[in-house]
Amino acid sequence: MPEPLRDVIARHGLMATKALGQNFILDRQLLARIAAIPGPLDGASVYEVGPGPGGLTRALLDAGAKVVAVERDRRCMPALAELEREYPEKLRIISGDALQVDERAEAGTGAHIVANLPYNVGTALLIRWLEGPWPPWWSSLTLMFQREVAERIVAKPNSEHYGRLSVAAQWRASPRIAMAVHRSSFVPPPKVASAVVHIVPAAMPDGVDPKVLERLTAAAFGQRRKMLRSSLKPVPHALDALAALGIDSERRAETVSVDEFVALARALS
Ligand code: SAM
Repeated sequence: MPEPLRDVIARHGLMATKALGQNFILDRQLLARIAAIPGPLDGASVYEVGPGPGGLTRALLDAGAKVVAVERDRRCMPALAELEREYPEKLRIISGDALQVDERAEAGTGAHIVANLPYNVGTALLIRWLEGPWPPWWSSLTLMFQREVAERIVAKPNSEHYGRLSVAAQWRASPRIAMAVHRSSFVPPPKVASAVVHIVPAAMPDGVDPKVLERLTAAAFGQRRKMLRSSLKPVPHALDALAALGIDSERRAETVSVDEFVALARALS
């Protein structure tokens, strides 16, 4: 039996730091359930952001994965070095900021990304993973977010949470909420509920420039209460494209489906 995570944290003095978004999960059963979300990991490569005291990391290793993990908090290094010694050739820890790491070079093409993300950089990392060349270098994303962010990622039109992030996550990928996680599962408990989102890449629609799509959704959702004929005015030719596609310019952004945004972006690309 591995040492209880509570003891690992006490032995290495890893009191959670709010500035680093540290909310640790200590329950090994819950960690094993999260590690199972990407599917069988035997022999697979996994890239983890923010291993902290290493609970999720060990669950991934026990599922048979080879793990590369990047952690910013140097206090965690001795505990993670112990784990590296326990799993030689299977685990490599990088001490650094996930926003600065050349992750594709470190983790290798085809890696699954699995992380209980620090909330302060979670959305920035997700956008980075969704934006790159397609198909992406990663095979799947299994990411813990605040519940509200998770709902924005999977939201459908005509709902409160539907917005730029929904379109960015859905136009060439399929996201789902894989698991709701109660506040009390973390130490210390965060203020709000969390959820694990699982995202797999899908085919990229033909003839769409991602920058054009991003420009459209930024304009449309930047003024989400306004009609499209007003919010899309700053985007050259957007009003002509609406007319050509038969999309009523009196509609608001939150009623426009992902497919309609894609069609508009294609017309302008
Ligand atoms: N994986 C552990 C778990 O599930 O218990 C810890 C998760 S905790 C929510 C987030 C972790 O990300 C912390 O260990 C924190 O130090 C680390 N972290 C915060 N910002 C980071 C960054 N920019 N790059 C890498 N790690 C970061």
